Formats: sequence, C-alpha cells, structure tokens
Amino acid sequence: MTVALRYHSTRGSSPVATLSEAMAAGLAPDGGLYVPEHLPRLRVADFRQGETLAETATTLLAPFFAGDKLANELPAICAEALTFPTPLHALPQHPNTSVLELFHGPTAAFKDVGARFLAACLRRLRGDDARRLTILVATSGDTGAAVGAAFHRQPGINVVILYPDSRVSPRQAHQLGCFGGNVQALRVQGRFDDCQRMVKAALNDTALQTQSPLSSANSISLGRLLPQMSYYAHAALAWWHQYGEALNLIVPTGNLGNALAAVWVRQMELPIGLIHLACNANTTLPDFFNGNDYTPRQAVATLANAMDVGAPSNFERLRWTFPDPDDLRAQLHVESVDDRTIREVIARHAGEHGEVFCPHTATAVHVLDKLRATGDDLPWAIVATAHPAKFESVVEPLIGRAVDVPTSLAAMLQRPAEAEALDAEDDALREWLLPRADEGSALLPTV
Ligand SMILES: *Cc1c(COP(=O)(O)O)cnc(C)c1O
Repeated sequence: MTVALRYHSTRGSSPVATLSEAMAAGLAPDGGLYVPEHLPRLRVADFRQGETLAETATTLLAPFFAGDKLANELPAICAEALTFPTPLHALPQHPNTSVLELFHGPTAAFKDVGARFLAACLRRLRGDDARRLTILVATSGDTGAAVGAAFHRQPGINVVILYPDSRVSPRQAHQLGCFGGNVQALRVQGRFDDCQRMVKAALNDTALQTQSPLSSANSISLGRLLPQMSYYAHAALAWWHQYGEALNLIVPTGNLGNALAAVWVRQMELPIGLIHLACNANTTLPDFFNGNDYTPRQAVATLANAMDVGAPSNFERLRWTFPDPDDLRAQLHVESVDDRTIREVIARHAGEHGEVFCPHTATAVHVLDKLRATGDDLPWAIVATAHPAKFESVVEPLIGRAVDVPTSLAAMLQRPAEAEALDAEDDALREWLLPRADEGSALLPTV
C-alpha cells in the first residue's frame, strides 16, 4: 500500500491535511502555507525519454498525490490542464543558451499552467457540493486572467479578481475584465500587496467563510505550485537526455512561486544545476540574499509589474525548505534589475538579434548577459514568463515595431471589459462579498 504524503503548515500550528484538503483550503488555518511533510525523491530513470509535458507531470506529481483521494485522477488532471507546450527553445545566436517558453497557454503567461491544474483539481474535489464556491485571486496582472480563464463558466464557482488599479498593463486590465458571468474583476485603489492582504484577511474570516465558502487561487495554493514543477522537470530531463548534464535556470521572480517550483525539482534530485533569480527594483529578496535580514516592505511599481512584490508570499516555503538562513543563501543567486536596464535589454536584443522579450523575461536576460560578460559558458535557460504582446505599451516603442498577438490573446481583446473600483481596505472586500454570499446561498441549496 502506498503511504500517503501529508501536508503541514509552514507555521506549524494547523492540523495535518491531505493534499486535497490543502488545495481546497489554499491558506492553512494558522495563516501559514501548506508544505509536504517531506519532498519526495525521483530519478531520471523514473521518466521515459521523449514523453509529453502531461506525462512528465503525472510521474513527477504522483508521490505528492500518493494516498490522496485525487490520486487515481492525476493522469486525467494532467492531461486536461497541460494541453499546451512549454518548449525549450535554443537561441541560435547565443551558444549554450535557451529560452524556456512558458507563454503558450490561453492567457499568454506561465500562470496558465497552475491555474488550469488547480481548476481541474477543484472541479473534481467539489463533486456534488451544491454550495457556490468563491475563489479569491489577488493579482499583480497575470494570475487573475489565468484563473479567470481556467474557471470561466464552470458551474458552482465564482471568481473574484483583485488587481491594483492602473498598475497593470492596458492589455492585462482588459483581459482581467473581459470574462463576465461568473468572473468579476475589482480594481483596488492600492498596490498588489494590499490585494494580497485583503484576500488573506477574507480567507481567515470565519464569519465570512461560514456564509459562503471561500478559497484562493494565488500562488499560495499548492494546486498552482506543484504543477509548475512539471515544466522544469520536463526541460531538465530533455536536456539531460540530450547532453548528459544539468540545466541551469534564470527565473524572473516576484512572489517566488515559479522559482520555488524550480528549487523543489532540484531538491527532488532531478538534473537542475544553478538557479539564479532575477527581480525588478523590488529588492526584498536581493537584500536578503546579500546577507541582510529578511525585511518585507511595500512594493514599488516597475515595468515588470507582475513582479512588483515587496513581501513575497512563498518565502515561507523557501525557509521551510532551507531552515538555516546561510544554507538558504547558498542555494540561490538573486539580482535586482532596474527599469532602465529592462528597457535597454529589450531594445538591444531586438536590434542585435531580433529577439523580443517581455519586461519580466528581460530581467533574466540581463542576469545572463552579465554572466556571459564574465566568461561564463554554462548551459543556461532563461525562463520566459509572458509573451511580449501582453506588454506592448512597454515593448513596442523600444523595438520600433508591432509585436504579433497570439490568437487566444487577440480573441480576449475583442471582448468588452469592465471592473468595479474598491478601496484598499480589508473591510471593503468583506462588505463587497457579504451581500453576495447571501445571494449565493439563497440561490443554491446548502449541504
Ligand atoms: C507572476 C509573474 C512573474 C512572477 O512569478 P512569481 O511566481 O510570482 O515569482 C513573473 N513574470 C510574469 C510574466 C508573471 O506573470
């Protein structure tokens, strides 16, 4: 019999949970984040050469699902969620350099992977629960659209998206407001960190939860974090099979969800070498990794807006993974890249090589450019987190031409969009949710 992998809170004072319970809850009751009791180990030989992303995901995530009630559904969940490629694309003009393209999903950013996987899990977990579930999402731009797309028109589920007003790109704002039906966008008069705090407060509000069940779909949910490990394992295994060496990664980072997925794959002993993180002008992580105390602070607005995070929520999970601060600092190299450099990188790479990067990806490109300038010749993959067409107002003036828009993004931009304004106060969200919770329970029988 398989031993079930159980899940604890990073803060240590919540009851242990199954994976399904942890995914349904989002945040643990003590305010911490769920982590497995240990990280499983796998070998290269556990995977078949040339397998699809969904197949890699199924093998990789099986130990995390062991003993859970969704365990038998895992292959179907992976097949349903991971329907688009995450190619590792070699850059011909730069030896030993590849781009791991994570932007081929419906909303053109890597968040589609986690959002679709979480949706596939939650749909199965709800079973015949007749109560309407409200999913709250705080977004710095891309998460909200990915979650909205993943849950749009799913029966029994509402999605409420909170985003910082005028801190997302015009196309991102359009995407967030274009769903209608069961997906509602709120323009919060504050920063991303306010949105995140408001969502956490609502999730921890027992009275509100009793009125109508709330869940989250932020990167704090394991249902988003775990599937993000799949593309790293898939790329690293392909590289290993081809060249017999580990792949090194540079990950644009904000809330640390994407980067933590890479770190966990390496902890599982799959062939990932160095992991460098590229941050924008928000220096909470770079400062810590340079030897200072961890000091969360308010985010500043940058061109790489999906990384405008001053209090990266997954830091708690990173700390759980490496409890000793010096050990943690030895695991990762972290750099801050300012807006001036982001602009310079986008313009120069387009001009010299015809390569067009989004502002987030450009931070990682800069970290690699610096390494190469010091003579580094390791195999590196730059992680491309979004398609440049999502940030055309930044990218197009810099490269002097239009960026082609992927088909699914073009279709969303055709639809009308709307979002309601909301004050950046915990009570404002509470007051917005309460009357709607009554409506939901009046319309639907409670079980
Ligand atoms: C969300 C996002 C990031 C940051 O990812 P985290 O998991 O929050 O670190 C980077 N780039 C883009 C395009 C994003 O949407």
